[in-house]
Parts: sequence; structure tokens; C-alpha cells
Amino acid sequence: MTATLIDGKAIAQELRASIAAATAALSKEHGIVPGLAVVLVGSDPASEVYVRSKSKAVTEAGMRSFDHKLPETASQAELIALIERLNADKSVHGILVQLPLPRHIDSTLVLNTIDPGKDVDGFHPVNAGRLATGQRALVPCTPFGCVIMAKKVHPSLSSLDAVVIGRSNIVGKPLAQLLLAENATVTVAHSRTKDLPAVCRRADLLFAAVGRPEMVRGDWIKPGATVIDVGINRVPGEGGKTKLVGDVAFAEAKGVAGAITPVPGGVGPMTIACVILNTLRAACAGAGLPEPKI
Ligand code: NDP
Repeated sequence: MTATLIDGKAIAQELRASIAAATAALSKEHGIVPGLAVVLVGSDPASEVYVRSKSKAVTEAGMRSFDHKLPETASQAELIALIERLNADKSVHGILVQLPLPRHIDSTLVLNTIDPGKDVDGFHPVNAGRLATGQRALVPCTPFGCVIMAKKVHPSLSSLDAVVIGRSNIVGKPLAQLLLAENATVTVAHSRTKDLPAVCRRADLLFAAVGRPEMVRGDWIKPGATVIDVGINRVPGEGGKTKLVGDVAFAEAKGVAGAITPVPGGVGPMTIACVILNTLRAACAGAGLPEPKI
């Protein structure tokens, strides 16, 4: 058996086209052009690449992109002052602070300064609380993308057994909440979980968000299961270069799973698409409009 590949690039492309159509309708019918402000402190090359691809995706969707670059030496007070200006700016509907921030800055304090209505990363405790209590919320983009991909395979996740490996605030926990909201039966596994392979073998839907290259082996997977690999790990490749691998041993897993995401080309492109989806959702909610139909 060879698993069907869940093509994150193609699904993200399709999603971005629907977002662009809904954005055009929002601006035609209500005169609102969603705007996303991305704040980058310092010049980490990986962050710069990520910020550039976000800005490109935002403009392609017909939205406004506002990039703010601060030097590595910027103080916490300067960053907070910038966020407060963006909170008050009516042309900005989404604010995203690129992580990691330099060591001298308290990331939690900075993220908590963002207006929850503009928090397109969904990291603010108000949004985490709204998600946990089933209220309209801006939800973290990576888990949001994971659920969209899972629903491409199973239009209803109701009553499926889902196992999430990882319990971080940015992936594992919100993913578990989203799956619960879809009526899946959810198990959250982590570094202290007993007999992880046996736990994983129960899963109709297996999500790996660990950060350990190829930890999930083929024989941990229930035959026919859907496997979503969130992990992005750089390992030594051929010719002294590095290559990207996920948290799942892809070559083994694809012989057992029913459907699986590749790394790269799976969860990654969906995360960016969900950033622009959240910007559109924030613009609609801010204007008192219903959720956009995507
Ligand atoms: P964290 O390091 O914050 O969390 C990792 C989780 O994995 C923790 O809950 C930890 O458990 C658990 N874990 C660690 N070792 C084991 C183990 N041996 N067995 C079981 N569980 C274990 O990572 P993130 O959630 O931020 O990211 C996870 C992965 O996803 C990373 O590879 C990251 O690069 C990737 N990622 C990809 C994104 C994308 O766009 N595709 C976006 C965000 C992240 P415990 O809590 O007990 O320590």
C-alpha cells in the first residue's frame, strides 16, 4: 500500500485563491481592504525569508502589507510602542510579531500587548481562551492548516480517534482544541507519555509536532491512518548540505498510512495561507461582519 500524498502546496494555493476572492468582495461591498503588519526585530536570515513570503502572499491576496523592521538592539519599550501604534491604526487588521525575539525582550509580554482582535497568530491568551471555550477566535495558523488538510481527506472528523504528539502553546494544544471542536476523540501525547508507539497505533488521525527528526516510525502507524507531519528538522544531507525532514519517517510511513503530508510541501505552505485567512477573518470580525465563507 502506498499512502495518498496530501499536497499542502496545492491546498494552500486553492485556499489563497478563495481568500483573494473573498477579499475582493469585502473591499467591493464594504470598502474594507484587510491589512497585515509584520514586525521583525533583528536580521535572522530564516525569519527574513519567512517575512518576505508572508508579505508576498498578503499582496497577492489583494491585501495591504506593512513591514516594520527594527534593529536587533531595539528596546522592549520601542517594540511595545510600535505595537500600540499598530493596535490604534485602523488600516491594520492583523499584527504579527516574528519569533524568536532577541533575548533581552520578553516575548510573552510583547505578544500580550497585541490587540486580541488583531492577533492573527492566535497566541494571545484571550484567543486561546476563546478557542478553548468554543467562541469565535483567531486560532494559531499551523494547527488551523493541519485541520484544513485533515478535512480534505475526511470531510467530517467526527468520532475519529486523533492523536496529537506535542503539547506546545503554538501547535499541540490549539490543535487538540480544534480537533475537539470537530468532534474527534483527542489524545495529546508528549515526552512523558507511556508507550508512545502503542498510543499512536490507535490513531485514525496522527499529528506529529515534536521537533525530532523521523521519530515516528512506520510501525507506529495504524494501517490506513491519516498522518500530518508538522515537524521541520534540518539534518545533514548529501554533499555536506542540510536537508529538511519531518517528525515522521516518511519512507516507512507512506507504506502504512492511508494519506500523509510530505516535508517540505505539507504543513509549511498551509501555515502562510492561514496567516492571510486570519487577516481576512480579523478584518471581517473588526467590522462586525460574519465569518468569511471560504
Ligand atoms: P516545542 O518544542 O515547543 O514542543 C515539542 C513538543 O514535543 C513538546 O510538547 C514535547 O513534550 C514533545 N516531545 C519532545 N520530545 C518528545 C518525545 N521523545 N516523545 C514525545 N513527545 C515529545 O515545538 P513546537 O510545537 O513549536 O514545534 C514542533 C515541531 O513543529 C518543530 O519541528 C517545529 O519546527 C515545527 N513547526 C512547524 C511549523 C510549520 O509551519 N510547519 C510551525 C511551527 C512549528 P513536553 O511538553 O513533555 O516537553
